[in-house]
Parts: sequence; structure tokens; C-alpha cells
Amino acid sequence: MTFAATVLTLYPEMFPGSLGHSLAGRALERGDWSLDAVQLRDFATDKHRNVDDTPAGGGAGMVLRADVLGAAISSIRDDRPILAMTPRGQPITQQRIREIAGGPGVAILCGRFEGYDERIFEAYPQIEQVSLGDIVLSGGEPAALAILDACIRLLPGVMGGASSGVEESFEGGLLEYPQYTRPSEWEGRTIPEVLRSGDHAKIAAWRKARSENDTRLRRPDLWERYCDARDQSASGARHED
Ligand code: SAH
Repeated sequence: MTFAATVLTLYPEMFPGSLGHSLAGRALERGDWSLDAVQLRDFATDKHRNVDDTPAGGGAGMVLRADVLGAAISSIRDDRPILAMTPRGQPITQQRIREIAGGPGVAILCGRFEGYDERIFEAYPQIEQVSLGDIVLSGGEPAALAILDACIRLLPGVMGGASSGVEESFEGGLLEYPQYTRPSEWEGRTIPEVLRSGDHAKIAAWRKARSENDTRLRRPDLWERYCDARDQSASGARHED
């Protein structure tokens, strides 16, 4: 089945961009996913084809108009999640990416200027407001590219090694363990001995310990959630006894 992506943007020429290369590009050529980059300006109704206007209440910049956005959103298939890129949204997670990648596709609305007239979120409550993280981009397009990239690499047949999507950061609620490769000695630095031991159980234990330790030190937020989930499943198991 083809994963159908629609992007609503003032810059359709930015797509497929990086997604036309490497894994995603080959998958696009094979038809594993499809991309429709829709020009928002085509939904403007006035003679100057305006898509934006000054903010109500004053202030800097311009705001994307609700009538233009509404017409654009109504024009797309409604069997897929609709994400609006905005720093005011929920930070995207790997779990949500996995859910989206398992569905028929996604529509992504890219903002520009100061963002969207808020009324579109009242009129279309199904729109998910999604952020790439606590940074401010000049437009939603790089965020849309990042989210599509994350989805496409999970589509069946896109990644080489069947297991490479499973054992990596966030999948078990932890960051991935650190990786090493040849040369085994570089500028006097060696690879941890255990990784060269050939003892698979020991290697797995070392990786698990590093995953946990690095997550605890680098991402206390993830670590707390991981511990809560672990404690809950342990107490759930006790209740079943
Ligand atoms: N004035 C807005 C920022 C607008 S930035 C505010 O302070 O909230 C212009 C556009 O860039 C946004 O509409 C959005 O589509 C995109 N953008 C900026 N930062 C983003 C982020 N962290 N995640 C997703 N999209 C972002």
C-alpha cells in the first residue's frame, strides 16, 4: 500500500527536497509512498491572491488567513491525520510517528510568518498541532520534511536490515547505546573490550546498561517515564499473581 503524503505549503518547490534522495528517494521512485505538495496560495480568493494579513490586536508580522487555510484543508482527503506544524503544538514523538507510518498517510500544514489564524483549529478540531521541539523555525517546511522522513524510513521494505527500526533510540523508552566500528584502535583509543568478546549475552547486557545510564544522565524526562512504566508493569504482574 502506498503511504500518501500531502503537504500544504507556500513553497511546494521545497518538496521532495531531501526526501528525493537516499532511502526516501528510492522509496518514492518505487511507489512505497507518494507526495502531493499543494500550493496554499491557490486557495486565496481575492484578486491579489493574498494568503496573509496583519495580526488582530497589532504586533509584528503577518498571520495566515483562516478562509484560505480552511479552503485548503477542506480540499484534501479526510482519511488521514492532519498535522499543523507549530512551536505551540505537542512535541512529536517516535510513538506517534510509528502510528502515522502504520496508517494510510498524512497531511501536513506548513505555517509561515507569525503562524495561523487560531480559528482553523476550532473549525477543524481533528488537526493535531505538532512541534518539532523547543526551537522556532522560519517556516513549517523543514519540520514537515523531518516528520515525513521519520515516517518513510519505517514503511515496510524501506530500511535495509529488518530489525534496524526496532533496536534504536526511543523504541524501548530509552536512548540507544553508543556504537563503534573499525579501526579497533584510533588515535590511541580502543573499542570497549566487551564488544569484541563475541559473547552475545555480555554484549546485550553492556548495551542495556549503557542505554539506561545514558538515558538517565542525558534525558531525565525519558528516564522518569521509563522507570514509571517499568514499576507499573512490575506491580501489574504482582497483582496478577
Ligand atoms: N509566531 C510563532 C512562530 C511562527 S514561526 C510562535 O511564536 O509560536 C513560522 C512557522 O514556522 C510556524 O507557523 C510553523 O509552521 C513553523 N515552525 C516554527 N517553529 C516550529 C517548530 N518548533 N515545530 C514545527 N513548526 C515550526
